[in-house]
Amino acid sequence: MAKVIEHTFATPIELEPGLLRVTLPLPSGPRHVHSYLLRGDDGWTLVDTGLGLDEPSWADILPQVDRPVVRIFITHMHPDHVGGAAPAAQATGAPVLQGRLDYAQCERVWGSTDWPERISVWFVRNGVPPDVAEELIESGHVFADFVRFAWNPTLVDPGDEVDGWRVLSMPGHADGHLVLFRDGVLVAGDTLLAPITPAVGLYPDSRPDPLGDYVGTLHAIAELDPRVSYGGHGETIHEPAARAHEILGHHEERLDRTEAALSAEPRTGYDVSHALFGNALPPIQRRFAVAEALSHLERLVVLGRAERREADRIVSYTAR
Ligand SMILES: [Zn+2]
Repeated sequence: MAKVIEHTFATPIELEPGLLRVTLPLPSGPRHVHSYLLRGDDGWTLVDTGLGLDEPSWADILPQVDRPVVRIFITHMHPDHVGGAAPAAQATGAPVLQGRLDYAQCERVWGSTDWPERISVWFVRNGVPPDVAEELIESGHVFADFVRFAWNPTLVDPGDEVDGWRVLSMPGHADGHLVLFRDGVLVAGDTLLAPITPAVGLYPDSRPDPLGDYVGTLHAIAELDPRVSYGGHGETIHEPAARAHEILGHHEERLDRTEAALSAEPRTGYDVSHALFGNALPPIQRRFAVAEALSHLERLVVLGRAERREADRIVSYTAR
């Protein structure tokens, strides 16, 4: 499971008849992200668009396939999936399809100038020291510079069909995360990954219990029982239901560790991120660690295993 795949960047690779994978580089994190091409009668549907890096460009990649890209589908608004949407649309002339809720959040985060300020205030409320919050915000800007999402896409909703694929809502990793499903094949975005586990974080203005959402998503995948799942990073998953159960176990365990980090003494999301992920994280990873600690803390509150309080504009948690 932990073997590292060798990625050939920017050359479409056929994974099964009518389904191609294109892998694009990322400057950080898993260092790569997958897009997929799904063949239809009228041409290809491109699913996700990488980060909007100049190289390799969609204009160079797409002539390698035998027919035109006629639509672009975005699974979720994270920079490594939506960042290349505008260049891909420009290279193909194809419309961009994006979830209604997902696009609203996309515009709020990537299309506004007040987001860095708002997320900074929010981090401070969750116990991040102001100077560290500043640092976290600056590291966030690294991505913002690359994000070229497509304004005013065609909005899609769960239950819609896209070229014979069923659109399903699978929240958790992102509130408005959509996936495509047809004939046992799940094009999963970042809902189901291997060997890494999708990040599930709480962010300002997000749904209140993203981990609860994600647990529901994992159960839905297990029930759907796809033959195969193609995710945004890492390996093709040949036993998606089993992988969903594995990830459920992972979050059970992390919930237990989060609960164990609490006592009668109030602790913030920032404090708990140190207990869960250690003290030595660079700013960009601390961002995710705080968000991830908070999604677990909020889940514990919902489950009646922790209590949240707010005093002097600082949110903290105690054991129950
Ligand atoms: Zn991703």
